[in-house]
Amino acid sequence: MKILSVNAGSSSLKFQMYEMPEEKVLISGVFERIGIHESFYTIKINGEAIRKEKDLPNHKVAFQYLVEELEENHVVERLDEIKGIGHRVVQGGSYFDKSVVVTEDVIKKIEELNVLAPLHNPAAITGIKAAQEVIPNAVQTVVFDTAFHQTMPEENYIYAVPYEWYTDYKVRRYGAHGTSHMYVANRMNQILGREDTKLITCHIGNGASVSAVVNGKCLDTSMGLTPNAGLIMGSRCGDIDATVVTYMMNQLGISAQEMDNILNKKSGLLGVSNVSSDMRDIDAGILEGNERCELVKKMFIRRVIDYIAKYYVEMGGCDAIVFTAGIGEKSVTTRRRIVDGLKILGINLDEKANGIRGVEGKITTDDSKIPCYVIPTDEEVMIARDTLALIP
Ligand code: AMP
Repeated sequence: MKILSVNAGSSSLKFQMYEMPEEKVLISGVFERIGIHESFYTIKINGEAIRKEKDLPNHKVAFQYLVEELEENHVVERLDEIKGIGHRVVQGGSYFDKSVVVTEDVIKKIEELNVLAPLHNPAAITGIKAAQEVIPNAVQTVVFDTAFHQTMPEENYIYAVPYEWYTDYKVRRYGAHGTSHMYVANRMNQILGREDTKLITCHIGNGASVSAVVNGKCLDTSMGLTPNAGLIMGSRCGDIDATVVTYMMNQLGISAQEMDNILNKKSGLLGVSNVSSDMRDIDAGILEGNERCELVKKMFIRRVIDYIAKYYVEMGGCDAIVFTAGIGEKSVTTRRRIVDGLKILGINLDEKANGIRGVEGKITTDDSKIPCYVIPTDEEVMIARDTLALIP
């Protein structure tokens, strides 16, 4: 059965088509600069990458090209072979604790949550509507980044601000990257051969978050009302004293929106280093002796270790620590420095094993009290699996 995994951004549309349940990727690609000049798309099929410059005024046109490519490349002979389309949605609020089939009511609820994810949720709706128009016979589903974190207990998601902010304005910790945390936690349990586990999953990429997962369910996570909480990220500040915000708004005479922009796009690795939001550039800066690159790397590592230590105590122990996403999967130095900082827990890095990039493997020695693993994440396949499960 053919299932399409879709991730629509405000000006982009990523897709991956699977033969399910085999989980074989048939074709994948991304449409970029939708609604902007110089739009184009790239597709990967049979190990070959193809790029085409096309006018993409909106997501519907992108879907029409997608269908054309599927037919021209004989991925499908008829559109009704596509039985399901799963859409990634960033914010599901407290409404959704699992993936669901799209209905009018579901769309209304996602739209209601637009205020909490002003860039992402409207884009997802655009993607859903475009898919409904172009491929009307497929079952459409939505898979939420926040759903996995809905099992957190109240004390972990309520902020210590007036309680009415929660009841009247929906202010609480929702977390993000849930699909990724769930994927790597499930895979870790498979490797360990049991489900009754205490895991710490570190999704560290351009966006970064850590979760405490007990028996496959989320107990705590570092992202908050929005993805700008917890760890230091490429250009996001993560946890800071909230008063910094009001103090600097007064000092600089800037609006809430300008402040939001600085905290999300000009902070983190970029803000401190003034070099880049990309960890590869930070590492290159360190090799050249750039002190601010070294400073922000130290801060970044410290924060990850702090969260691992917190969750270790919160869970009353830990069976395994997982690293995933761009930095977690590929940055050997970052992993080394994080794991070295965990020696007090009896965790010992296997220097040679830690050399892996982008593949699964254990990176600690056999005598390490807690094993650490690299597990490449795969949010797309999770979307396809959930969609398959929801097809009647
Ligand atoms: P993601 O958001 O998951 O795509 O991750 C992007 C982050 O991963 C960026 O900060 C990249 O610098 C980092 N990254 C990707 N490849 C490497 C690598 N080989 N070494 C260090 N960092 C990497």
